[in-house]
Amino acid sequence: MPELPEVETTRRGLVPLLVGKRIKAAVVRHHGLRQPVPRNLPKLLAGATIRNLARRGKYLLFDCGKGTLILHLGMSGRLWVANKATPAEKHDHFDLVLENGTVVRLRDPRRFGLVLWHKGDPLSHPLLAGIGPEPFAPEFDGAVLYQATRNRSAAIKQVLMDSHVVAGVGNIYANEALFRSGINPRTPARRIGHERCKSLARNIKKTLESAIVAGGSSLRDYVGSDGLAGNFQSQFMVYGRAGKPCQRCGTKIREIRQGQRSTYYCPRCQK
Ligand SMILES: [Zn+2]
Repeated sequence: MPELPEVETTRRGLVPLLVGKRIKAAVVRHHGLRQPVPRNLPKLLAGATIRNLARRGKYLLFDCGKGTLILHLGMSGRLWVANKATPAEKHDHFDLVLENGTVVRLRDPRRFGLVLWHKGDPLSHPLLAGIGPEPFAPEFDGAVLYQATRNRSAAIKQVLMDSHVVAGVGNIYANEALFRSGINPRTPARRIGHERCKSLARNIKKTLESAIVAGGSSLRDYVGSDGLAGNFQSQFMVYGRAGKPCQRCGTKIREIRQGQRSTYYCPRCQK
């Protein structure tokens, strides 16, 4: 599943190709994504100039002046750059065709992605309005995390993955940040004190940042929009390392299930 670093890597890769460019046409081959793609979308997009490409959580926001194209990669989506001669394949559901011939294509085999249009402030869209602070924003820190977790008795790992608490921290990065802070993922969130919240907020930022620098992780078939696979995967401390020795203490990494997701942790380093 594309996580925040993959979305941000995609955004950074696309900005130089898209911003300031005019859209010639939009092609919708499959309207049945997680929500139906609006029927009039090609009409709305044709002739518009992309003024900016922003991100909020895992949503990409294409500012087209008169409105915003909101795109989410869902479970299996990725955007890649083609040209108008490249034939579309089975799972290529949506194309943005620029006047210069560049095509930005959404490939999404599981069709859990979203392609929507919103007039007015995109942050007021119902899907975006309730999202918590961006992990990189200065306003997200230990104090904010401490406040947000006081009445949460659920396990800290599940609380971190709740986008109302902080935007876009998925399974991989929740596992990695908890290891780096030495926190057992099963600890009830409200029992984590000030100092540990501070450390956790700092490590969430650090983990996501290093993944972005590495170009996102290359799990499944994720490929950055420049066509290069990311290589953050090789830097995982716990994720996907069940039974292997902890890189700090040598204890075997344990795997458990939390909310249908795999959790990996070191029983010795994480208390
Ligand atoms: Zn350890």
